[in-house]
Amino acid sequence: MTSSPAIGVVDAPSLAERTSIRIGGRAIAEVSVEGRHGLERLPETLKRLGGEARAFGRGSNILAADADLPLVLVRMAGREDISVLGEEGDTVLVRVPGGMRLSTLLARAAALKLSGLEGLAGIPGSVGGAVAMNAGSFGVEIGGLLRKASVFSPDRGLVEVDAQDMALTYRHSAVQDATGLCLVHDVTLELRPGNGEAVREKMAACMLKKRQSQPLDAASAGSAFKNPAPDAAAGKLLEEAGFKGKKLGGMAFSPLHANFLLNEGGGTCEAALELLNLAREAVQRTSGQALELEIRVWP
Ligand SMILES: Cc1cc2nc3c(=O)[nH]c(=O)nc-3n(C[C@H](O)[C@H](O)[C@H](O)COP(=O)(O)OP(=O)(O)OC[C@H]3O[C@@H](n4cnc5c(N)ncnc54)[C@H](O)[C@@H]3O)c2cc1C
Repeated sequence: MTSSPAIGVVDAPSLAERTSIRIGGRAIAEVSVEGRHGLERLPETLKRLGGEARAFGRGSNILAADADLPLVLVRMAGREDISVLGEEGDTVLVRVPGGMRLSTLLARAAALKLSGLEGLAGIPGSVGGAVAMNAGSFGVEIGGLLRKASVFSPDRGLVEVDAQDMALTYRHSAVQDATGLCLVHDVTLELRPGNGEAVREKMAACMLKKRQSQPLDAASAGSAFKNPAPDAAAGKLLEEAGFKGKKLGGMAFSPLHANFLLNEGGGTCEAALELLNLAREAVQRTSGQALELEIRVWP
């Protein structure tokens, strides 16, 4: 690893070691960026490394190809803390670094007696990744709490984007549509003053409910498919099509929650895609519903 306080480069990082589903070859390099000084140096570093630069959080929503990938992973180092910017009526504005773990943000919010994020308890990954995916659960989406995001691209530098210009819909944001590197550097969230104990209790209740219905400790990338409609859950459609617990080449749809695709050991991207395709075809046949992938397939 070559490093300075602002930027660090790791050569040939393994995606299998960096993704929660434990699959994938090696990328060209991984660049960790610290603060605004790191961003200033990023374009020159990316030019030197070559390949396609992609924002990378904690790898909890990515299924990467088995072969080596012509990609450079760019991640925010995430060592900074959140800052409380002030109050507006009954809203408290907080700025959060994109590289911070979502679980750390939830713990900090509870310590500061701030409410709003409780439903996101148990979602792994980084704050930047959560905004890119508009992650959500229990009726809460991070996009619904967003005031603005500071987004970096090599062409435009660091730009502030208002939430209404972020195209935030179900598991989607404008970040996904961008061509070239588009990195969420930090976000400003709108939270509410709350009771620290009540916030903690609600987070624990959401976490418990999740743990009872989802295989949180298994190697997965979360929900494989998006729900095709609010009243049509992908997990239920997969179950009805006979895919709950279905296995292929080291991969399996979880017996606990049919929409979680698990790497049971020795699984590959090739086997994962084959099983996903079989499932999609079966659901189309049995229910007429077209399933769309939620997980990001790289490259
Ligand atoms: C056990 C488990 C449970 C899960 N439960 C849920 C759930 O309940 N709800 C839910 O919505 N998701 C869930 N997920 C999916 C996943 O945790 C979320 O999508 C998460 O927000 C991804 O964050 P990440 O940092 O890991 O992103 P990554 O997986 O690293 O990246 C995902 C996408 O975001 C982009 N990205 C990452 N960081 C940035 C950044 N700083 N700037 C710009 N783009 C970026 C990447 O380019 C990629 O396109 C679950 C996953 C697992 C493994």
